[in-house]
Amino acid sequence: MLKKILIINFGQIEKEVIDRISSTIQKTFGIKTEFFDQMPIPWTAKKANQLKASDFLVSEREILENNQADAVLGVTKKDLFMPDLNFVFGLASPRDQVVVVSLARLSDDNKKLFFERIRKEAIHETGHLFGLDHCEDKLCAMSFSKNLWDVDFKKIKLCSNCQKLARENVKRIS
Ligand SMILES: [Zn+2]
Ligand SMILES: [Zn+2]
Repeated sequence: MLKKILIINFGQIEKEVIDRISSTIQKTFGIKTEFFDQMPIPWTAKKANQLKASDFLVSEREILENNQADAVLGVTKKDLFMPDLNFVFGLASPRDQVVVVSLARLSDDNKKLFFERIRKEAIHETGHLFGLDHCEDKLCAMSFSKNLWDVDFKKIKLCSNCQKLARENVKRIS
């Protein structure tokens, strides 16, 4: 059963950001979060100024193996990509119970808006750990965002269907 998520700071993430993510995850999924030490950025497979999102997941899987937790959520300021996508806001591997969220493309002079975007993407990636797929409801945090407009359009919560599914899956995941 997924009970505790470790939150990892991959380089100089403000405490306020980590705190917002923690409280959002706790509230949305009803699980505990714990802050883990700051970790160095995995520098492998570097492409210009972007890093491959899956490299973060590999590093997180190692951390998960060596620590008491059920899942890991990494936060980075680095811009992330995947082989078929120019950029990603984040990536999840439900099989390995690890996710990463990138702040690189979420920033805005309006701090409130910036935090809202971070919370939405943190819910989205964590939702994948709870067996949720992309949702057709554009207002649901599980709807796939291909750009910032999509991110800003959706709400900082799951639709009732996804919320229900997540609750059911919490019991199933072991
Ligand atoms: Zn997704
Ligand atoms: Zn939904």
